[in-house]
Amino acid sequence: MIVVFSEDGENFKSAAALAQSLGEEIAGVAKQELKFTNKLYVTDFDEDVVVDIVSKESPTLVIGGDTKRDKTVAARVAARLRAAYAPSVVDLKSQGDRFVVKRIGYSGVALATLTLSKPAVITVGKGDSSPKEMQTQVIRQEGKGRVRVVERREGKGTVDLGSAKIIVSVGRGMGSKENVKYAQELADAIGAALAGSRPVTAEMGWLPEDRQVGLSGTKVKPKLYLALGISGQPQHLAGMKDSGLVVAVNKDKNAPIAENCDYLVVADTVEFCQEMVKRLKG
Ligand SMILES: Cc1cc2nc3c(=O)[nH]c(=O)nc-3n(C[C@H](O)[C@H](O)[C@H](O)COP(=O)(O)OP(=O)(O)OC[C@H]3O[C@@H](n4cnc5c(N)ncnc54)[C@H](O)[C@@H]3O)c2cc1C
Repeated sequence: MIVVFSEDGENFKSAAALAQSLGEEIAGVAKQELKFTNKLYVTDFDEDVVVDIVSKESPTLVIGGDTKRDKTVAARVAARLRAAYAPSVVDLKSQGDRFVVKRIGYSGVALATLTLSKPAVITVGKGDSSPKEMQTQVIRQEGKGRVRVVERREGKGTVDLGSAKIIVSVGRGMGSKENVKYAQELADAIGAALAGSRPVTAEMGWLPEDRQVGLSGTKVKPKLYLALGISGQPQHLAGMKDSGLVVAVNKDKNAPIAENCDYLVVADTVEFCQEMVKRLKG
């Protein structure tokens, strides 16, 4: 038995496609009805309930999505099953009583090959693979864990960075929270989504956390990525290395981003934004 779960419908599909390639019975856990597994538990994705359902099925393999919440559930399931755990897997083969997996390491600069004894828990990212539709027995499961959703509110200004075509991304080199407005003006002028590095999102709160690009944030692949005052550490590069054209603005011509961009503008970030907006509007 293989169990597939994800809070994200698209990520559920890529996990289900991988499970189907192994030709075993598959149980799914998702928020909505998706017809890619033999049976499917539809839940409100209360973490305790998901951990319970997944563990109860006594699977030889659990495949979760790669969202932060999915990874939390995956780690808890692995602990409950006393199973081997590997997140962000890109390739998997079953070999006797083991799985051989490849996973991305060191912020995307290395590929590690691991053998996992069965049972095993892995997570996989969203992919292009589409699973085939199956006759699915749907089981509705009420959440009754320790965490209850009392109210849902849409985050203010939530953007889908993953599908943005142009991104203006700010780093510590913007200088202050007040200065971020200059980057916002530039982003508005060129129809871009505004994003940021980890310090300016998760740490200093200049932008909401869902705007973080990088290893522990969102992976983006816009046609144009404009990095303003971002040094270009590996954890940031891991999130934007698939961008088309990368333009960096930095006062330090030797910043690591210089080796990882198509054009480097050696300038002050605020002056650059003001000048660009003036020219675009003029
Ligand atoms: C486990 C782990 C996960 C992480 N995940 C992420 C992640 O997902 N995303 C992420 O971004 N980081 C992540 N980090 C943090 C990462 O290592 C770096 O600390 C971070 O990316 C640096 O952010 P920054 O480039 O904004 O700041 P800094 O490294 O401080 O760079 C600021 C840059 O701005 C330039 N600058 C300064 N003033 C100006 C000015 N006036 N005009 C022009 N340029 C100027 C400087 O020359 C410098 O290059 C992670 C770290 C760890 C350990």
